[in-house]
Amino acid sequence: MIVILEPDLPDRRAVVERVVAVARRFPGLEVRPYDFCGAEHTFTEVHLVGCTAQVPADAFDALPGVLRVVRVSARYRLIGRHDPAPRSVGFAVNGVRFDERSVHLIAGLCAVDTRQHVEATMAALAASGIVTARMGAYKPRTSPYDFQGLGSACLPWVLELAGKYGIRLVAMEVTDARHIDEIDAALEAAGRPTAGMLQVGTRNAQNFELLKQIGRRGEFPVLYKRGMGITLEESLNACEYIASEGNSRIVFCLRGVKTHLGDPHRNLVDFAHVPVVRRQTRLPVCVDPSHSVGSRAVAPDGIPDVVHAIGQGVVAGATAVLVDFHPRPEVALCDGGQALRLEELPRLVAYVAAMRAAYGTAVSLFGEASALRSATA
Ligand code: PEP
Ligand code: MN
Repeated sequence: MIVILEPDLPDRRAVVERVVAVARRFPGLEVRPYDFCGAEHTFTEVHLVGCTAQVPADAFDALPGVLRVVRVSARYRLIGRHDPAPRSVGFAVNGVRFDERSVHLIAGLCAVDTRQHVEATMAALAASGIVTARMGAYKPRTSPYDFQGLGSACLPWVLELAGKYGIRLVAMEVTDARHIDEIDAALEAAGRPTAGMLQVGTRNAQNFELLKQIGRRGEFPVLYKRGMGITLEESLNACEYIASEGNSRIVFCLRGVKTHLGDPHRNLVDFAHVPVVRRQTRLPVCVDPSHSVGSRAVAPDGIPDVVHAIGQGVVAGATAVLVDFHPRPEVALCDGGQALRLEELPRLVAYVAAMRAAYGTAVSLFGEASALRSATA
């Protein structure tokens, strides 16, 4: 059972105390208060854990400061959307707000290779007004003989360049808990010129020990990529692991699922799941068209498949796009075949804005229709 308090209460501690006092009347109930600092609002929920079947909801509903009481199954207790109100979800990190209001392009190198390539990419991002980058330092590769990433050695100059070009957040995959310490130490040594976002790759989607460690490091937001060969529900449960250890600042990223039914794309593009994740959880949703499509092939309309996939995700309501760019894809050490060229960035920014506007139109069309449906129900 979850007792949801009114948002932005100045005296939320007092309301929590009242809930705790009522909960004490029911033996065996464990009380766990959680604050969710969204980009717009602060929400508090008091989770009552234990045998709640006989606990009447009105005992809490009537308390001043309580918005509503919901009974939930154990599933997605923390990441789940328990409150259907379309209030903004999300969080802010280093001045970047992940919420339902705007779309972020998290663009950059799949794998960091040279300082020049990082600098050219950061400069192009800055010129397009983008403050969120991806820069893979630790690369999980299918073959042990493939480039494994530069690891912690590249962090000092990657972070320094991020600061130089006003990049506020750098998403970096971690494959081992020790990478979190290395990123933290490098940020500290560089004077925190930017912020880090820990990316959980699809290959670690159910690495529960890593997920728990990331959850305990609440200072880092997380970009969680769905497992390529597991159900959506299993991936969402994996995010619940992160949240249950104390970190709810998670962006859920769809990146396609592995099946030859997606051929000739690298994976079967799964962006039809954007509205599902938004309905079932309160996590901001990202799409990764690069690892979904896996090539720079261009359709007869002149638009690359990767770009078409971005449109599908954004029109479906995604508010972040993770996309591979490289100044010279032909020499990239990882996934060059799917990287867009920096010259394509300004066009892509305009395209994403157009797709977001189309989403806004769709919301007004269907939002009116659903208001009508509830009015006549
Ligand atoms: C990546 O984004 O660099 C990556 C390895 O993606 P995924 O984990 O989705 O394969
Ligand atoms: Mn890649």
